[in-house]
Amino acid sequence: MDKRMKIFSVFHSFDGECNYCGQGHLTTFVRFAGCNSKCTFCDTKKAIPLDSGKETTIDELVAQVEQFGKGKLTITGGEPLLQIEELTKFLSHPMISYRDITVETNGTIPIPNEIYQKAKSWIVDCKPPSSGVQSDPTIFEFLGPADYIKFVIFDEEDYKFAVDIVKKYDHLTWAIWAFSPAVKYLRNIYNPYFPTGRGFFDSEFSILKILTNLLTNPPSERIVLNLQLHKLISGFKEEE
Ligand code: SF4
Repeated sequence: MDKRMKIFSVFHSFDGECNYCGQGHLTTFVRFAGCNSKCTFCDTKKAIPLDSGKETTIDELVAQVEQFGKGKLTITGGEPLLQIEELTKFLSHPMISYRDITVETNGTIPIPNEIYQKAKSWIVDCKPPSSGVQSDPTIFEFLGPADYIKFVIFDEEDYKFAVDIVKKYDHLTWAIWAFSPAVKYLRNIYNPYFPTGRGFFDSEFSILKILTNLLTNPPSERIVLNLQLHKLISGFKEEE
């Protein structure tokens, strides 16, 4: 019998997460329901409970994804690895397995080799102090040059944490370090009451200052800036 999984949303957009195919690449997002973390800054809190997702068979999910063509896929959540058996079957489906696939995971669950091979690129979170969640840095050693370790930067302490982790693990992994300003900073670019993009450019914690710092004094040569384009484009809808 076709396995059922809990899917929160399926949508088409520009990929706002760094990945091997390139940020800004057209992609179909599959957002799995259910997460084992409760990050304070989560931008998709509605997807945290497993029952937030619609029960979907693999064939139904393939059909939903096919509506948007046969291009790249971005698997995200929630935490997709919580439904690892269903995820593995979906990624192995003949209409899916040939595609460019990238998977985002929260860095709290080891990635078994069998499923690691099924995606072109993995984007693994390293949770900073403000998240209230701890990632497992031993996962990073296993990652390759097509993979990314992502820090969401919410405040200055998060930035210092990220820099320390990069310095500590840079020689142990091939993965690229992605610095991602928290969604609240992106929101302020849009906010008509803050026409200068306050919060992004000139708040007491200036994300621009942090980014300039990264540029002039990078803790590694493998650093990238991650801006969640799909969040900007959707107007920060939780489904997308
Ligand atoms: S891991 Fe991701 S989906 Fe889960 S609570 Fe944190 S930010 Fe939200």
